[in-house]
Amino acid sequence: MDKETIYVVGHKSPDTDSVCSAVVYAAYLKKVKRIDAVAAAAGQLNPETKFVLDHFKAKEPLLLGSVKGKTLILMDHNEKSQSPDGIENARILEVLDHHKIAFEWAEPIKFYAEPVGATATLVAKIALADKRFKLDKTLSGLLLSAILSDTVVFKSPTATKTDIENAKILAKFASIKNLRKFGIEVKKQKASLKGMSADQIIYSDFKEFETNGKKFAVGQVELVDLSEANERKNEILAQMDKIRAEKQYEFIALMETDIISEGTELLVAGNPVIVEKAFSKKIQNSSVYLKGMLSRKKGFLPPLMEMLK
Ligand code: MN
Ligand code: MN
Repeated sequence: MDKETIYVVGHKSPDTDSVCSAVVYAAYLKKVKRIDAVAAAAGQLNPETKFVLDHFKAKEPLLLGSVKGKTLILMDHNEKSQSPDGIENARILEVLDHHKIAFEWAEPIKFYAEPVGATATLVAKIALADKRFKLDKTLSGLLLSAILSDTVVFKSPTATKTDIENAKILAKFASIKNLRKFGIEVKKQKASLKGMSADQIIYSDFKEFETNGKKFAVGQVELVDLSEANERKNEILAQMDKIRAEKQYEFIALMETDIISEGTELLVAGNPVIVEKAFSKKIQNSSVYLKGMLSRKKGFLPPLMEMLK
């Protein structure tokens, strides 16, 4: 009998963590569990992820459209609204994640979540603990890049000791001498908005949330300075408004995060009241600067969720 194919896939608007974690976990399952695991991505890869795959000579994952009827392992997310289309009619075997848990499924599944800085850290822990598997230079490099990317080179409040410890081991295997220097090189790959339409900027790292019947979305771009973003503020806001109306979101927020000076220019389209209350700040001309804000999951979302309870 042919073995069933299991797709290991991250969230929509794939980032380096969701893609690299899927690639390495699929390789692990294939080798150790003898599963026909296929690494997949739920959308086009961003320039940072392409750079990382290319740098470590790894193959691009399969681009997956609808997952209707397919068997899946979900990586780096657990909210259905962030999963590939057709998720309602897919079979989920397992979830590996480091985000807040908003998962509901009719059947028992394996769910592995820890509050660490990257899903790649969880994959590294699993792979490093298993003597049957060898993390080669390529696979180590992919996991390392994902950790550096998700933790903003350990600057994000989401970064933990576990991330740093595992990153150091991976760096040795991947022959990366200067972790921080390499991390900045990775982060710079998508730090420019040049050549991107407003729509591409908003959707480059876009997540939809739903709580108590309220739907909203939060996008994020990580930049090395805010000048390009500031120059295009009106154009970006107009497109955010269009998307908000189409998708009937309560609001859309776009975090323009300056990873060097460590703060976020927040643009808000739609009802600003929830955001204003959550951060006790007035939104003026559809924006507000949040000093020290780097992380969507640990900095931005918790006070917002508190307001939406
Ligand atoms: Mn992610
Ligand atoms: Mn992640």
